[in-house]
Amino acid sequence: MIVAKFGGTSVADAAAITRTAGIVRGRVSRAPVVVVSALAGTTNALLEAAGQASGVNLVGAITMVEQMRARHLAVVKEILGVGADTDELGATVSMLFDELAHLLEALSVLGHMTPRSLDAIASYGEQFSAPIVEASLRHAGVDAVLVDARKVMVTDAQYGRAEPRLADIGAAARENVRPLVLEGRVPVLGGYIGATPDGITTTLGRGGSDFTASLLGAALEAEAIEIWTDVDGMLTADPRVVRGARLIEHIRFDEASELASFGAKVLHPNTIAPAVARGIPVFVFNSMKPEGSGTRITADAPRHAVRAIAGKGNTAIIKVRSPRMLGASGALQQIFEVFARRGLPVDVVTTSEVSVSLTLDETHQLDEVLAELRAFGDAGVERGRGIIAVVGAALATDPGAMARAIAAIGHVRLHMLSLDSTGINLTMVMDGDQVRPVMQRLHDTFFGGSAA
Ligand code: ADP
Ligand code: ASP
Ligand code: MG
Repeated sequence: MIVAKFGGTSVADAAAITRTAGIVRGRVSRAPVVVVSALAGTTNALLEAAGQASGVNLVGAITMVEQMRARHLAVVKEILGVGADTDELGATVSMLFDELAHLLEALSVLGHMTPRSLDAIASYGEQFSAPIVEASLRHAGVDAVLVDARKVMVTDAQYGRAEPRLADIGAAARENVRPLVLEGRVPVLGGYIGATPDGITTTLGRGGSDFTASLLGAALEAEAIEIWTDVDGMLTADPRVVRGARLIEHIRFDEASELASFGAKVLHPNTIAPAVARGIPVFVFNSMKPEGSGTRITADAPRHAVRAIAGKGNTAIIKVRSPRMLGASGALQQIFEVFARRGLPVDVVTTSEVSVSLTLDETHQLDEVLAELRAFGDAGVERGRGIIAVVGAALATDPGAMARAIAAIGHVRLHMLSLDSTGINLTMVMDGDQVRPVMQRLHDTFFGGSAA
């Protein structure tokens, strides 16, 4: 059994969905379970419509819904042609759009939105795409069957970034997915969405369909987890940021995980952990070029000093300084609890005897966080920073590589610099507008001439 996940661009329109159906058909002998994202751009549009409706621009929100409806129905018609199948699927999808419109109306009456209602709305993208892909697979001769992801992906109630409940997911996958595969059928599930044990819809966080695929792969003890996307595999850097990025054929779990956490959007940061837990290889393939070799991610790829570079912006640095407190035992713990209570993940941390600096993605909660941190001493925030991660399993044991990395930074002011405890990730925090040029210099230094 394998799990094959198709991202937004792989289901963006009729041509992409047809290509995706062909890829699945070619894998039927491997007993695939298919996970799909929303049609490219849909989740963004849904979140925008929710914002408009709750900001009492219902007309704007409904206009967006009707544009999305027209797009989805046109895709259905283009794939299935004129006839009963199109009418039936069109009616199913249209009913979901009616539901969505009602929800948005309710939001506009309330004039306000909760994280729970936002998740309910965000979930429609995958609710629309999954039945369309299922029907397209059947149209291509695959015995596909739709499974409501909310019956399988059981999560807690942290709306917007729900945590999976692994034991429940395992049980639900064995009950609702595995028997279908054993019957020779191809289950199709929407990624990204889940539900609490009470059945309230949740989402796993943006880009979360990758995470759905790996959770499902682990629950079903799949042989492989395949991530089908719009690039040839994991590359030595984001090709949208760096010129000359190259395909990585084989990379280690720990390296891929660090890269994903520091901006390599090709994988959701949580994708790797479930695969590591069960030792399941993860593959990244290009759905536009299915014949490509892609990237294989496993525990045992050869170690390189620098395997790839990732980066991200919109980072805030929080600095807490206190001559009295920080030496005291327990102070760091209390500081981290401020972030933990809000579910805010901290990325880079550096300390001295009297101060601690840490970074997180910029959020609207920063002011509240600062107010709480002032209990420990002077606390301040610097916005608009960015992080670069230079990642390689043999980085720490190759002083030459470290020196070259530092040299490549050039005359750019560093706000923080840190090497993680396993020595595979050198992170540097700088002004956000320096991330792009410094990534290019680092990439030229390590991947300029020879093959990756
Ligand atoms: P999908 O919709 O298939 O999930 P995403 O847009 O989420 O696709 O992820 C694919 C994108 O990730 C690529 O188009 C690329 O711009 C970006 N990306 C960032 N870092 C990397 C990297 N190291 N290797 C490959 N792609 C990367
Ligand atoms: N559709 C969701 C998003 O855009 C999940 C995903 O594509 O992985 O974030
Ligand atoms: Mg993605």
